[in-house]
Amino acid sequence: MDKRQEKELINLAGKDVRFDCPMAQYTTFGTGGPVEALYEARSTELLQQVIAYLNEEQIDYLVVGRGSNLLVRDGGLEGVAILLRGSLAVIEEEKECLPAQNEQPGDSSIFTGAGVSIADLLNYCRASRLGGLEFLAGIPGTVGGAIAMNTGAFGKEIGPSVEEIHEITAQGALVVRAGSQLRFSYRTLKIEKGNLIIRARLSSSRETEGLVAARITNYLKKRKETQPLEYPSAGSVFKNPPNDYAGRLIEQSGLKGERIGGAMISEKHANYIVNTGGAKAKDILALLRMARETVKRETGIELEPEIRVVGRSNNEKAIRSK
Ligand SMILES: Cc1cc2nc3c(=O)[nH]c(=O)nc-3n(C[C@H](O)[C@H](O)[C@H](O)COP(=O)(O)OP(=O)(O)OC[C@H]3O[C@@H](n4cnc5c(N)ncnc54)[C@H](O)[C@@H]3O)c2cc1C
Repeated sequence: MDKRQEKELINLAGKDVRFDCPMAQYTTFGTGGPVEALYEARSTELLQQVIAYLNEEQIDYLVVGRGSNLLVRDGGLEGVAILLRGSLAVIEEEKECLPAQNEQPGDSSIFTGAGVSIADLLNYCRASRLGGLEFLAGIPGTVGGAIAMNTGAFGKEIGPSVEEIHEITAQGALVVRAGSQLRFSYRTLKIEKGNLIIRARLSSSRETEGLVAARITNYLKKRKETQPLEYPSAGSVFKNPPNDYAGRLIEQSGLKGERIGGAMISEKHANYIVNTGGAKAKDILALLRMARETVKRETGIELEPEIRVVGRSNNEKAIRSK
């Protein structure tokens, strides 16, 4: 991004745009170099204008939820990281929901900004006595990130609960897609290049507050028992291969506790790489590569990363700035 483009961005977004921000603060791994610009979007209309401008100027952008499935390389990110705040991070009153087709008595919809955290969504569900999404408890992301990743746990995924999403296209237009038009698969939703989700309508069912609260507590307890929540991480590093578990394969390859720099393959759950302190993205990537190569060599199974790796290495940054 050049100085003219920086100025134009400031003209458009004012104080909501900052430059050269360390991505370590915006990812749960706590690693990653700086992004050229960070834009905290607070309204749909302004976000539409900013997206249209970035596309006109061919400036890259990446929407970041809680960065809980992201590994940003140490050389940082070119372009703009977009965070959804303000009106894009609130749950709207249920009365504003459009009536869903085929709704059963007792069903209800939640119309939520994509920037709302899963924790806030579940607090709202509990207080409003809305059930069906409790399996998401403990996932540290946002609604937008959860939908983009088709996040799932305990045999369930968010996809079937998505009744509708509102997106901004690369040209800055608003589009609404019904759940039936969305192509979810294991840990992905097919999204048009450059589109970002700003709102969603999620289905839920009327329950008692006690029942919703009990299910949330139960899921959180299960997580605590099996996951290394005491360290920063991005959850499962690899997708599970068909009929098997990535964690089981990594553990069987004898890699639990393996360390590179500040990064370690968790002793508690082998599909987690944790930052035990001061890890660089390159340490995490080296462990990821080691796990992938060892499992391939020993079992013939090729593990596919679940985490999304973005940005450039320090070497690439040095070459470009020469
Ligand atoms: C301790 C821990 C436990 C976890 N447990 C689970 C689990 O049980 N199941 C599971 O599936 N995952 C789990 N995860 C991974 C992660 O939390 C989920 O994938 C989460 O839904 C990602 O949400 P996010 O908002 O942080 O997305 P980010 O990590 O910020 O982004 C992930 C991807 O989604 C895109 N994205 C984000 N927001 C939007 C948007 N509004 N519009 C379009 N694209 C968007 C980003 O560009 C990026 O490509 C865990 C992570 C941690 C740290």
